[in-house]
Amino acid sequence: MTTYKVEHHNYDVVVVGAGGAGLRATLGMAEQGLRTACVTKVFPTRSHTVAAQGGIAASLSNMGPDHWQWHMYDTVKGSDWLGDTDAMEYLAREAPKAVYELEHYGVPFSRTEDGRIYQRPFGGHTTEFGEGPPVQRTCAAADRTGHAMLHTLYGQSLKQKAEFYIEYFATDLIMSEDGQCQGVLAWKLDDGTLHAFNAKMVVLATGGYGRAYFSATSAHTCTGDGNGMIARAGLPLQDMEFVQFHPTGIFGAGCLITEGARGEGGYLTNSEGERFMERYAPTYKDLASRDVVSRCMTIEIREGRGVGPNKDHIHLNLSHLPPETLHLRLPGISESARIFAGVDLTKEPIPVLPTVHYNMGGIPTNYWGEVLSPTAENPDRIAPGLMAVGEAASASVHGANRLGSNSLIDLVVFGRAAAIRAGKVVDPAAPNPVLNQASLDAALDRFDRVRNYSGATPTAELRLEMQKNMQADAAVFRTDKTLAEGCANMAETARKMGDIKVTDRSLIWNSDLMETFELENLMPNALATIVGAEARKESRGAHAHEDYPDRDDANWRKHTLAWVDGAKVTLDYRPVHLDPLTTEAEGGIDLKKIAPKARVY
Ligand SMILES: Cc1cc2nc3c(=O)[nH]c(=O)nc-3n(C[C@H](O)[C@H](O)[C@H](O)COP(=O)(O)OP(=O)(O)OC[C@H]3O[C@@H](n4cnc5c(N)ncnc54)[C@H](O)[C@@H]3O)c2cc1C
Repeated sequence: MTTYKVEHHNYDVVVVGAGGAGLRATLGMAEQGLRTACVTKVFPTRSHTVAAQGGIAASLSNMGPDHWQWHMYDTVKGSDWLGDTDAMEYLAREAPKAVYELEHYGVPFSRTEDGRIYQRPFGGHTTEFGEGPPVQRTCAAADRTGHAMLHTLYGQSLKQKAEFYIEYFATDLIMSEDGQCQGVLAWKLDDGTLHAFNAKMVVLATGGYGRAYFSATSAHTCTGDGNGMIARAGLPLQDMEFVQFHPTGIFGAGCLITEGARGEGGYLTNSEGERFMERYAPTYKDLASRDVVSRCMTIEIREGRGVGPNKDHIHLNLSHLPPETLHLRLPGISESARIFAGVDLTKEPIPVLPTVHYNMGGIPTNYWGEVLSPTAENPDRIAPGLMAVGEAASASVHGANRLGSNSLIDLVVFGRAAAIRAGKVVDPAAPNPVLNQASLDAALDRFDRVRNYSGATPTAELRLEMQKNMQADAAVFRTDKTLAEGCANMAETARKMGDIKVTDRSLIWNSDLMETFELENLMPNALATIVGAEARKESRGAHAHEDYPDRDDANWRKHTLAWVDGAKVTLDYRPVHLDPLTTEAEGGIDLKKIAPKARVY
């Protein structure tokens, strides 16, 4: 093995990732007076959060009555009763505070006539515990909300003297013998040097793994790297079978048309020009939750009512909306429709198809962002020195299905919570842990091994094979047969990792090597997803199993845990948290309001 020279860095906290979650955590940690480094493989404002269009949910009541308990109810129902009650309460309660903080940090929200933050309707967000009309809860900066948030949070983090390591690719966690996280190893992409970051707390904010699929709205950088590091450290991933398909990816291109388009009055039609959502979801129609709308679109196409020469997609209509609304509220998607579908949306419908969009599952945490290393005796055992926030994490507020605009709020609420917690548990005066040399050596060994892969299969070829397997067999609708085939196919694909060929051995701007590390991370994500899905014999949220069409609370209201080792996946389960943070007497929600029931919109 080549001997690598490693440069060492010491911090109180190292955050891996500079999307909305990583930046909010970085900013909060620095504000707490902790010496904080943020390590990121892309420039902070290029993180996938930059693409978030529609907005961020919080019950501000700026555009009609709203209440945090209604938001909580909608989140519980949206999760199909798989979310953790304490975490969902924390999200809904803290959301207004977190949004006003963003406003004060300088996020340029769109405004109402009287100068308040503009809010639009979004799928699954209602009033009166699902009894009333849709609510305007989603705060927006036109259709560029994530862009506005990232720029503001990056600026604020710099102001607080957080230190950024930009275009550093983290490869592995460094763990002590007894399971404490002590840091990460990272590769500096532009000069090939290696860096060991030693910290009292490591925060993974590495985003989702949409790129395990062939067609996804996510950036090419969404490769589940943090989840891969967790799997290699022998820790489990949670609820990975729940993958959200967004109803309106542009047909062919996969780029997103925000749900805000339907929030502003857009609607879907089939080949007969019918507004078919009225049939499936009579109350909320096109604003039913995403899993529901995606399934209805898939059924329309299956039953021969798709549009286009091959009847294989659906139309999203916006041309009836006033041009001023399109210009003011949806300027970005007007451009996307023109560039990626060749459509002038003031005149024609946009061709759309359900497209992989979000990962509900991820690294299990409590609502302070602390990573869990569950055992049979203690399903909530904390893995010391390690936190996870954002799409990489599973807190779990989204359960089996996330509501639109509930991710951006998850990023800032839990990024902030992690910082508050770190302020309590990290002592800046204490010495840093002594790095476990054996763990660092193992990380360096793996780096060298991957760099020298000399099999016969190019990385891009195996990646495509994985993406096609996942697209075909872990889709909107699933059956015992497709899932069993999918598991077998994915196991075979994963075994081919041993036959990868890295052609470029250099260490400077080596995209072949970087993509191989990313594929090594995507693979455990894909395996955990399909094996978890095969095992779950019910339908819940985004997991629509045709052989078990009903939700089965008696047997399956529990979180899946998946340990991935090479091509092997071991499953176990942990209970869903049913207790809220506060009782009704203390001002909390009446638990009868959120008791499980059929999920209709
Ligand atoms: C097109 C699109 C539109 C969306 N619109 C909305 C919306 O309107 N409202 C909403 O609530 N949600 C929306 N979502 C979902 C939401 O935007 C994402 O879930 C969220 O932005 C994820 O943020 P994150 O901070 O967890 O990760 P990301 O923003 O994906 O950032 C990940 C960070 O991790 C870093 N990283 C990853 N791996 C490594 C590594 N190995 N080493 C170093 N750094 C690494 C990256 O550099 C990056 O900085 C949308 C998603 C998409 C794809």
